[in-house]
Amino acid sequence: MFNRFYSAALCCLLAPSAWCGAPFSFESAPGRLPKNVVPVSYDVAIVPDAAALRFTGTESVQLQFRAATATVQFNSLNETLSHVLLDGAPVKSVTSNDEQQLTTVMLAKPVSGLHTLSFSYSGKIETQPQGLFAQKYTKSGGGQAVMLSTQFEATDARRMFPCWDEPAFRATFHLTVTVPKSWATVGNMPVAQRAVHGELATVSFQRSPKMPSYLLEFSAGDLREVSASRGGTQFGVWAVAGHEQDGAVALASAQEILADYNDYFAYPYPLPKLDSIAVPGGFSGAMENWGAITYNDQALLVGPSSTMQDRQTVFSIQAHEMAHQWFGDLVTMGWWDDTWLNESFASWRAAKETAARYPAWRWWEQEDESKESAMAADARATSHAIQQHVTDELQAANSFDSDITYSKGEALLRMLEAYIGEDVFRQGIRSYIKSRAYSNATAADLWNALRESSGKNVPAVAAPWIEKPGFPLVSVSAACDSSGNRSITLSQKRFLLTDGSATGAQWQVPLRIRSGTAAPRNVLLDTQEQKTAAGRCDEALSVNADAVGYYRVQYDADTLAVNTRLFAGAVDGDRIALLDDQWALVGNGEASLQDFLALASSMGTDRDARAWQQIVRALSSIEFAERRSPGHQAFAAYARALIKPVADELGWDAAPQETPNVGDLRDTLLRDLSSWGDQATIDEARRRFAAFVKDPHSMSADAQTTLLTIVGQNADAATFAQLHALAKGAKDDTFMERCYVALARVRDPDLARQVVQIALSDELPPQANTLGLRLILTLAREHPRLSWDTYIAHQDQLMKSVATEERPLVLAQQAPAVYWDALPLDQLEAWVRANIPKGASDNLARGMETAHHLAAQKPALVKAADAYLASAKHAAS
Ligand SMILES: [Zn+2]
Repeated sequence: MFNRFYSAALCCLLAPSAWCGAPFSFESAPGRLPKNVVPVSYDVAIVPDAAALRFTGTESVQLQFRAATATVQFNSLNETLSHVLLDGAPVKSVTSNDEQQLTTVMLAKPVSGLHTLSFSYSGKIETQPQGLFAQKYTKSGGGQAVMLSTQFEATDARRMFPCWDEPAFRATFHLTVTVPKSWATVGNMPVAQRAVHGELATVSFQRSPKMPSYLLEFSAGDLREVSASRGGTQFGVWAVAGHEQDGAVALASAQEILADYNDYFAYPYPLPKLDSIAVPGGFSGAMENWGAITYNDQALLVGPSSTMQDRQTVFSIQAHEMAHQWFGDLVTMGWWDDTWLNESFASWRAAKETAARYPAWRWWEQEDESKESAMAADARATSHAIQQHVTDELQAANSFDSDITYSKGEALLRMLEAYIGEDVFRQGIRSYIKSRAYSNATAADLWNALRESSGKNVPAVAAPWIEKPGFPLVSVSAACDSSGNRSITLSQKRFLLTDGSATGAQWQVPLRIRSGTAAPRNVLLDTQEQKTAAGRCDEALSVNADAVGYYRVQYDADTLAVNTRLFAGAVDGDRIALLDDQWALVGNGEASLQDFLALASSMGTDRDARAWQQIVRALSSIEFAERRSPGHQAFAAYARALIKPVADELGWDAAPQETPNVGDLRDTLLRDLSSWGDQATIDEARRRFAAFVKDPHSMSADAQTTLLTIVGQNADAATFAQLHALAKGAKDDTFMERCYVALARVRDPDLARQVVQIALSDELPPQANTLGLRLILTLAREHPRLSWDTYIAHQDQLMKSVATEERPLVLAQQAPAVYWDALPLDQLEAWVRANIPKGASDNLARGMETAHHLAAQKPALVKAADAYLASAKHAAS
C-alpha cells in the first residue's frame, strides 16, 4: 500500500522469541487462526447489487485438515452463511461472531486430509475503501455513476468473502462475478469466461497462483482501458469512461518499470498481465493487488492539468506498487509484525527506480524530506520499532505507519545497500526472492540472504535498527596534527526530541565519511567511541556523505566553523545532511539557531532546491512562531531579504530546459515571499491571475499551482468568488482540486468561514471524497481554531473516506500534529482520547509528544530569532 496512515510495541519484547529473528515457518508464524486446517483453493462467486449496497455469494474452499479435527475456524465480517456443507453433507453447527470477526463451523465428526467446505452467504457493499466498496463519481459528460472496487489489506478480504484472512495462509483463488452486461470487469488474472444472460454478465477469471487473501482484487464499472504488450506481459491502464487516455503516461511507465524489475530481481514477473485501475476518489494512494493494482485516480492518471510534480508522484507510486509484485505478492511477510518487509522495500526500490529513470529529478534529494519526517517521528521518546507485535486488526492497520514502516525502513535499506555495496545487495535480494517465491518470509530470511551475498555480518548490523526505536546522534570531535592532518573521535548516543542525554542505546552505524570533495569512505561505528583519520583540517568534513545515513551528526565547534566557511562549495548531499542535522539540533536544544542561520547565509550562489527548501522550511517555522509577537515584522523582513535574491534570479517563468527541481525551488520561494508579506510578489501574482482568468490557456499547469496559492492566500471577496467559480466550473478533477485547495489558504477570516461551508457542502463531487478533509486541514495554518471546531463537529463527514480500522489511528496522530497551536493541549488530548479506542493510546501519546514539543519550541524560537536579529543589527551598526 502507499500513503497509508499510522503507527504500535516492541516486537522482541512481546512476541514469542521463536518468531523474532527466526526464518519463516508456517507453524510458528503468529496469527489468530488455528493452523490445523488450511485452505488450498477457493472458488468464490458473487452477485453485487450496487444500488442496494448488498451482495450474495457462494463459496467452495478445498481444505487440508493437517490433523484430525471437528472444528473449522476462519474470518468473516458482516456476512450471513447458509447451506454450509462439508463434502456435500450438512455440518453440525455454524456460528459467526462479528465482534471477533470469526466464523466457527462444527463438523459432525473429526476429519483429516482433503475436504471441501461450501456455503452460500450474503454481505454488505461498503462505501468506505474496505472490502468490496461502491464508489460514486461524476461522469465526464455530467451525471452520476457508480463503480465497484476492492480494498482488502490489511484485514478486509473477510468483508467480501469468508476466508483465512492472514498472510501466511496462501491459496489459489478462482473468482466469478455477475454484473451489468455493459460493465467491464478487472481481476488479478485474465478473464477466462464471460456469459451474458439478459441484462447481466457472469465473468470468471483464471485461477490465481497461491497468494494471501489480502491480494485478491476485483473492479467493475463503466471502465475503459489503454493497453500494450511487452516482453510477454499484457499491460492495461483502466479508468472510468472518458478518462482512459489519461492513462497513456502510466501505461508507458509500467512497461519500463517492469523491464527494470525483471532484470533487478532476476525473476520474471510471474503473471500473464498487469492491470492498473484508476479509482475516482475512494482511497488515498494505491494498493498492490497481484496483477491488478488499484490507484486513486489522481495517483495514476496524467492529464492536461497535471504538473511535473503530479507526474513524479504517479511514477514513484507506480514504481512502489510494482516493486510489491515481488516484495509482498510473490514473497509475502509471514505476519503483520513484518509489514515493513513489504513497505520499506517497496519504498526503497521505488525511490531507486525513480532516481535511475529520471536523474534530473534528483529523487534522493526529494526523498530526504520523507527521511526527515521519519526522523522527527522517531526522535520521540514514545517512538516504536519498525518491527512491532501485532495481535488484532487495529494493530495490523497500525503497522502501516508512513514515517516508520515506510520512510525509516526505506532509509535503512539505502544505508545498508551503501554499506555492503550495490551489486552484492542485489545478489542477496535475488537469492531471497528465488528461495522464498510463492511463500512467506521474515526479516531473518532477508538478513541471512544479505549475509551470504556480502560475507558481512548483516544480521548483527541490521537487526537492532528494526528491533529498537530511535536512532543515534554521532558526535564528532576533531584533532589536528602539526602537518594539518585530521583525526576524529566518534561517539554515539540516542537522539531524542526533547532530551539529548539518553545513553545506553547502541547501534552499529554504517558511516560514510568524506573530507573535502573526495570519494566517501565507509566506517562502521560499532562501539560507544572510536577514532579514525579524516583528511585535512582545512577541508569540509561530512560524516554522513550524500545524506545516505539514518543518523544525525554533531560536529565540534571548530569543525562546524570550517564546514560553514566552505559551505557554498560543499557536495550537495553533504550540505543537505548538515542542514538537516543543525536544524534538528536547534529543535532539541543542542545547537544554536545562530549556527543554523550562519549556514543559511553561507549558501552563496548555490541553487540546490532541496537545500533551499530546508532553509525556507526552518524560516517558515520561525515566522509562524513570531506571529503576534513584537519581533515578527523584523523577522519577516530578514527572511524575505535572505531568499529574495534567489527568487529574483529565478523569476516567475520557467527557463527553457529547466530541470524540475529548479521549478520546485521557484514555487517554494514565491509562495514563502507571499506568506511573509512581500508586496511585489503578491501584486505580480494578482496581475498574472487577471490574465489567467481572461485566458486560462495563458499559463502552464506547472505555473498555476503557485499562482493560485498566492492569489488564494491574499484573496478579497471578489477574488475569492472568481477562484471559487473556477473551481466549480473546472472540467477536470486535478484543476478543480488545485482551485479548492488554493481557496483554503485564504487569510481573511470571513472568507475562511466560506471555505468551511464549501468543504461541508455537496458541491464537491463524490469522487473528491477526501477533499473536504483536506480543505479543513489546509485551513488550520491560518485559522487553527475555526479549522479545529469544524474538524471535531463534522468528524463523520470529513472522515468518510477513511477505513474503519484506520480512523482512530489517523485521529490520534493527525489532530495533535495539526492542532497543537489551536487550543490548550490538555483539551486537545481529552477530545482525541474520548474518540479513540484504548488500542490507539500509544499513537495518541506519540502525537501528544510532538504537540508538546512544538508548543515548547515556539517561544524558544522567538527568543533565539529576536536575539539573533538584535546581535546582527548591533554588529551592523
Ligand atoms: Zn506499499
